[in-house]
Amino acid sequence: MSILVFGSLNLDLVVQAPRLPLPGETILGDRFEQIPGGKGANQAVAAARLGVPTRMIGRVGKDDLGQQLLQSLQQAQVEIAAVQIDPTTATGIAAIAVGSQGENQIIVVPGANGQVGATELGYLERFSSTAQVLLLQLEIPLAIVEQAAAIARQANLSVILDPAPAPAGLPESLYPLIDILTPNQTEAAQLTGLAVTDKETAEAAAHQLHQRQVHTVVIKLGEQGVYCSTPTQKFFLSAYPVKAIDTVAAGDAFNAGLAAALCQGQSFLAAVQQANAVAALSVTQRGAQPALPTFKQLQAFLA
Ligand code: ADP
Repeated sequence: MSILVFGSLNLDLVVQAPRLPLPGETILGDRFEQIPGGKGANQAVAAARLGVPTRMIGRVGKDDLGQQLLQSLQQAQVEIAAVQIDPTTATGIAAIAVGSQGENQIIVVPGANGQVGATELGYLERFSSTAQVLLLQLEIPLAIVEQAAAIARQANLSVILDPAPAPAGLPESLYPLIDILTPNQTEAAQLTGLAVTDKETAEAAAHQLHQRQVHTVVIKLGEQGVYCSTPTQKFFLSAYPVKAIDTVAAGDAFNAGLAAALCQGQSFLAAVQQANAVAALSVTQRGAQPALPTFKQLQAFLA
């Protein structure tokens, strides 16, 4: 039982400020930190901290930022042999501004993530027989995401795609390759053209995504919780009431929590409950990877 994560690694350059600046405005911040992130790497660290053997497939540049990212993965016990160190490109970064209420704005410069391609697909082919679940996101080239989903499908892995950051649209041929699609409200709206703000509108969006042949739709509704729709069940779970400090990586924590539980043979409902708790815990801490809970912390939270 193990998880493959195929996707991005970014170093987050995080500025904490009393509030977010308006366009054209300059304000003083309180703090600057470099924190390991990237949706792929976040999902890998979160899954490994939950105790499930996890392998990351992706690419960094041959620079200090890349080393920081590899170190963070290693500390969390993520297997990194399939992360390429590419001397021809820079490690990906995300410039993140966080306001005092935990609200954020993010600009990603893909760097090495934009070069993910044939070599990484080769790693996926090589390692897919060792895993049950493949986690995908959209911070690498879309055509490669689609090929990765096809390889995983062929190898009978469950494919969980977080369609983030919000795409203009996805190729129709990608949807049937996805076992579980996990958009947030913005992404669900972008994919369906429907406003998604609550469980009723999420249900309408999920219906449309099923028509495109996505098997299971999980719509993350931020502090409201999560709406889920499979061919046989539809349900909504409220978010855990926690004090949100920083919502960076909440979605990544959620997907890792879901994958870890499914990998351990839990039911879909139990897996979503675990995902909801892992994500809630992640918003109570600042930063991406440092905020991701361990299995022990999860158990203490749920006790
Ligand atoms: P993303 O991080 O992908 O934008 P969301 O903001 O919808 O996604 O958050 C993902 C999940 O994190 C939610 O479905 C919920 O489980 C959890 N979550 C987010 N914000 C909060 C919050 N303020 N309190 C508790 N849980 C939260």
